[in-house]
Amino acid sequence: MGMRENRTGHSQSDGSGLVVLKSYRDGRSAWLFSIKEMPYEIRPSPGAGLGVFATRRILAGECVLSEAPLVELDKVHAHGVVTWPIESLEDKVRRLSPAKRAEFYALSQNEKYGVEKTLTGIWMTNAFTVEHALDGTPQRAAVFSVVCRFNHSCRPNLHNEWREEKGTKVVFAAEDIEEGAELTVTYLPKKGLLRAERQAGLFDKFCFYCHCSLCAQVGSALKRSERRQERLIKLDRLIEAVEARLRENGRTSQSLDTLTALVEEKISLLAMEGLPMTWGLRDLYLCAVESKRSGADNKARAYAARAAECALRGGGDECNSYVALKAFLAA
Ligand SMILES: [Zn+2]
Repeated sequence: MGMRENRTGHSQSDGSGLVVLKSYRDGRSAWLFSIKEMPYEIRPSPGAGLGVFATRRILAGECVLSEAPLVELDKVHAHGVVTWPIESLEDKVRRLSPAKRAEFYALSQNEKYGVEKTLTGIWMTNAFTVEHALDGTPQRAAVFSVVCRFNHSCRPNLHNEWREEKGTKVVFAAEDIEEGAELTVTYLPKKGLLRAERQAGLFDKFCFYCHCSLCAQVGSALKRSERRQERLIKLDRLIEAVEARLRENGRTSQSLDTLTALVEEKISLLAMEGLPMTWGLRDLYLCAVESKRSGADNKARAYAARAAECALRGGGDECNSYVALKAFLAA
């Protein structure tokens, strides 16, 4: 039975972990649902306006937040141009409850859209793509009250994904996060970029230079990091090429060995760079599938188990990848 001190008194769990007895300094006490206590708070982040910070230790794979959008918009085709329908945005924001509208206007606005906050400026600064067209261009985007508060890091500790069936953005801890640490996501659509490319991409779209622990490196540490990033980019191309070869020419044990060697190198480079292991999910899954097809069942199970661990960290036990991998392991 855990007891812990906090600013308002102390809490005592009933052992189920679902409810806690909270005793206040003035002598009152109440049973509260502990699962409703969010593991984060929003407060100023040095040099980055507001940020989101862990209020307790968060374990890898834990769901930090599941949030429905304040506003969602589909792109429209008008006079040969594909654009966001700002009139429809005005209408949607007007129809929000006063509290939700206040949350929308409390979001930050990038200075390139002007100092005074506008609907378009807030939208352009905060909109997250929730659906892509087949050619990869954003088709539908949404603005969220909390999700939009996460700052960027090239070494993010969160993984987020859009759950179409529930209409919510779910955010998971990609690694164990200590109390007080800032919770971060990556704003970069592409993974595996050199420092200069990351900085240019972020400045172009969001008008800031990144000072994350990866970008803040100097001297030989930076050089080593850049070599690893360069190799990660190359590895993705090599893995893609082996995958194509496996698909076209059928399986040879040689191609499978090449594939697993490349993937192992990628996984260890991700770890050395302090990047989320969830970024290796697809590669581990590919090794599991190809091993299975080659009749290497034990190897297939080992890769599937490692992929399942990534899937769990990336989207919890409800995500499609985790469910598919559990089925793969059970077969
Ligand atoms: Zn960075």
